[in-house]
Order: sequence, then structure tokens, then C-alpha cells
Amino acid sequence: QSAQAGGDTIFGKILRKEIPCNFIYEDNLCVAFDDLNPQAPVHYLVIPRKPIPQLSRAEDNDGALLGHLLLVARKIAQKRNLKNGFRIVINDGPIGAQSVYHLHIHVLSGRQLQWPPG
Ligand code: 5GP
Repeated sequence: QSAQAGGDTIFGKILRKEIPCNFIYEDNLCVAFDDLNPQAPVHYLVIPRKPIPQLSRAEDNDGALLGHLLLVARKIAQKRNLKNGFRIVINDGPIGAQSVYHLHIHVLSGRQLQWPPG
């Protein structure tokens, strides 16, 4: 599978621009966009262009890419002025309630979030 292809998921289609999607950020390694079904006033996703299906299947040499995704999540948070904080979530596998098997970081903010989550 090509590193740019995106894999056969809805996010692959978004990456290949087969589904219209307004990117709030993009670079050569990742893109970010608002979640279709937001769970908070701010809810965006940061996804790698490389079609890593889930965090538990990332490889040791994906470390720099994984770090980059976090820094991009933070950069967008700064741009959106989320100075009171935000939450990062990565759902992994059935137990983690992952529904799209293309790795993505959720960023949630804009309301008081509770802990522990449901
Ligand atoms: P997961 O449960 O896999 O961690 O989260 C997948 C997320 O992708 C969900 O929050 C869902 O609302 C979002 N999502 C699914 N399909 C689309 C889509 O076509 N466009 C956008 N922007 N978000 C999507």
C-alpha cells in the first residue's frame, strides 16, 4: 500500500479527495479536519497520510510521525485559542470503540469535559 494512498477507509477517501472535506490543516505527513459528528463544541481529527490502521499496529519507526501528529494537534489548539485546555483521544480496536481503521487523534474542547469518560 502506498504511503499516500490512505487505505480503504472513509479517511482514505478523504485523503484522496474522493469525499469533499474542509481541511483545517495539512502538510506532507498529515491532515486535520473537523469531526462530522462532534462530541464537543471543538472536535477535530488529525490523521497521518500513511494508512496506519490503528495505534497498536504502528511500527517502531513511526515514532517521529506519531510525535508530529501530537505537535500538529497542539498547533491547531493554539490557533483556535484553546488556552483553557483540550483533550486528546486515540481509540484503539473494539474495546477502545474505534470505528474508522485509519489512525486518528481526536481533539476535544469548548466545554468542560468529565473524567473518567464513559
Ligand atoms: P473512532 O470511533 O474511530 O475513534 O472515530 C471516528 C470518528 O470519525 C468519529 O468521531 C466520526 O464522527 C468521524 N467520522 C466518520 N466519518 C467521517 C467523515 O466522513 N467525515 C468526518 N469529518 N468525520 C467522520
